[in-house]
Amino acid sequence: MQKLIDEIKKTSGDMARRGWAESNGGNISLRLNEEYHRYFDGIEPKSGWVNLPMEMPKISGERFLVTGTGRFLRNIELFPEKNIGVIEIDGKGGAYQLLWGYEPKGAPTSELPSHLLSHCQIKEKSGNGMFAFIHTHPNSIIALTYAVAALDTKNLTKLLWQSHAECIVVFPQGVEFLPWVMAGSMDLGIATAEAMSRRNLAVWQYHGICGCGRNLDEAFGRIDVAEKAADICLRVMAAGGAKQTLTDQQLREIAINFNCHVDLRLFDFKQNET
Ligand SMILES: [Zn+2]
Repeated sequence: MQKLIDEIKKTSGDMARRGWAESNGGNISLRLNEEYHRYFDGIEPKSGWVNLPMEMPKISGERFLVTGTGRFLRNIELFPEKNIGVIEIDGKGGAYQLLWGYEPKGAPTSELPSHLLSHCQIKEKSGNGMFAFIHTHPNSIIALTYAVAALDTKNLTKLLWQSHAECIVVFPQGVEFLPWVMAGSMDLGIATAEAMSRRNLAVWQYHGICGCGRNLDEAFGRIDVAEKAADICLRVMAAGGAKQTLTDQQLREIAINFNCHVDLRLFDFKQNET
């Protein structure tokens, strides 16, 4: 049990110290692997079944560690049992019950639809190898969604890939751009889950970013690299704009060198560079 708590304490503490989780901003969910799942066998549930907004059979019977609604990520290190909880999904994927946490009383994050619908997708696309999903508010990523005109998935991805040479290695499938949708809504949950079926990062316009990974370190790392690239991009813009940048050919060479499976639909190689 301590190992599980230590894993989320490390990530939530890092997010708070990065300035990504002001007040109750940001939320984390971790689908429990076999080892973590067993910790909660035979435990007396702390709530009745709570209906989910739609059935999610792909995650039936799964257990998740989820941050609490209204709780501060920066307090998880101090009082984990108050700020995080473990929920179990029923056999149909249509409801959850609380097994542990949210002391003395509480509920999972209001972004639960985005988390659980995304877990359905990332579990499937990874052959049951991805367990972590993070939503957070990094300054530079959010600022980019104000500063750059006519953003879409293709030009946001290219901008980040060109701003930091590591990016195409860390997220070769790019970053999905989602135009503003109300936070906590099913529409946002469905759009985010669709994005996660194709990529490991999705930016929410004017709001933040979501990332997935095999574990919390990997999901955090992807967001960290994207945020660093966004920060560099903004500094370049503030310094008068790029005088030169990574070319398509150089990006392609990096991708080949590190054997990355780039989403080629995002990548318009110029004819003379192929
Ligand atoms: Zn948020």
